[in-house]
Amino acid sequence: MSRMIRKAAVIGSGVMGSGIAAHLANVGIETLLLDIVPNALTPQEEAAGLNLNAPKVRNRYALSALEKLKKTNPSPLYSSEFAGRIQPGNLEDDLNRLSEADWIIEVIVENLEAKQSLYQRIEQVWKPGTIVSSNTSGISIKAMVQDRSDAFKEHFLGTHFFNPPRYMKLLEIIPGEKTSPAILEFMKSFCEQKLGKGVVTAKDTPNFIANRIGTFGLLVTLQEMQRGGFTVEEVDAVSGPAMGRPKSATFRTLDLVGLDTFVHVAQNVYDTVPDGSAEKEIFKVPQVLKQMVAKGWTGEKTGQGFFKKL
Ligand code: NAD
Repeated sequence: MSRMIRKAAVIGSGVMGSGIAAHLANVGIETLLLDIVPNALTPQEEAAGLNLNAPKVRNRYALSALEKLKKTNPSPLYSSEFAGRIQPGNLEDDLNRLSEADWIIEVIVENLEAKQSLYQRIEQVWKPGTIVSSNTSGISIKAMVQDRSDAFKEHFLGTHFFNPPRYMKLLEIIPGEKTSPAILEFMKSFCEQKLGKGVVTAKDTPNFIANRIGTFGLLVTLQEMQRGGFTVEEVDAVSGPAMGRPKSATFRTLDLVGLDTFVHVAQNVYDTVPDGSAEKEIFKVPQVLKQMVAKGWTGEKTGQGFFKKL
């Protein structure tokens, strides 16, 4: 069967979803970008007398992703003309439109139950043949669709983009137990040839490969910082530009990823490693990170993480 991806649907227009949508638009793919309806008004919306049903409010997430795309430093490939290929919308109103897509990419919050319930909704409108993938950082591919039909599972896999998705070449592809070999092969070549990614196929183990070792590295760094009394600035200096690696400073990267996402990702491994093992101690999420998230200091997306955006 010859397969083509002409239209995609990205669900979740946050840090990763908006970037993935931009990358797809850049390579010529029409993209629907959906998110959930906001459940609270911003002070500005309240002052303007809007209610939660106002289109301006209901489209807030997806529109802000589009605005962000237009404003933030575009890649050399990117032009505002390409933004026209992205159609923002609300999941509630536009669920049926998922049947227009050849590829549906789920990029919502890193939470198993939220993802499972979204897949249940997606399957209600899913057109057989449509590929469905998750951008999860490390949740089990098998568990996310455990209650779905075999036909759906055959079309389902993990496509783990890295942040920022327009610039990072690495893409982990994670087949599930029932992913059809033909779909897996198609996605590997599509993502390499059309999306320009360097694909690594990973097994469905907690946090796959890159995040398993990346999370380990970061948590060990935090533990060693406490023992050695190193500062955030010192660690960033030795892991980033001063080492000739301009984009890899440890805490700048964590701010970019989002501390909330990192906490979910680390917790995912913690929950799956055996009690009493050495790994269990290492993957324990430090209290300081949980406290920062509780305060809303989730990184660049809120303007405050380890660093403050001025
Ligand atoms: P984010 O918090 O920036 O965005 C998540 C978006 O999902 C939000 O806009 C939110 O409104 C929406 N959302 C939440 N629940 C939803 C639901 N039930 N239905 C529809 N939309 C919903 O998160 P992110 O950083 O973009 O991460 C998204 C996914 O990508 C996660 O699985 C994460 O682990 C993964 N990921 C993140 C990074 C990173 O660096 N941040 C890198 C690779 C993979």
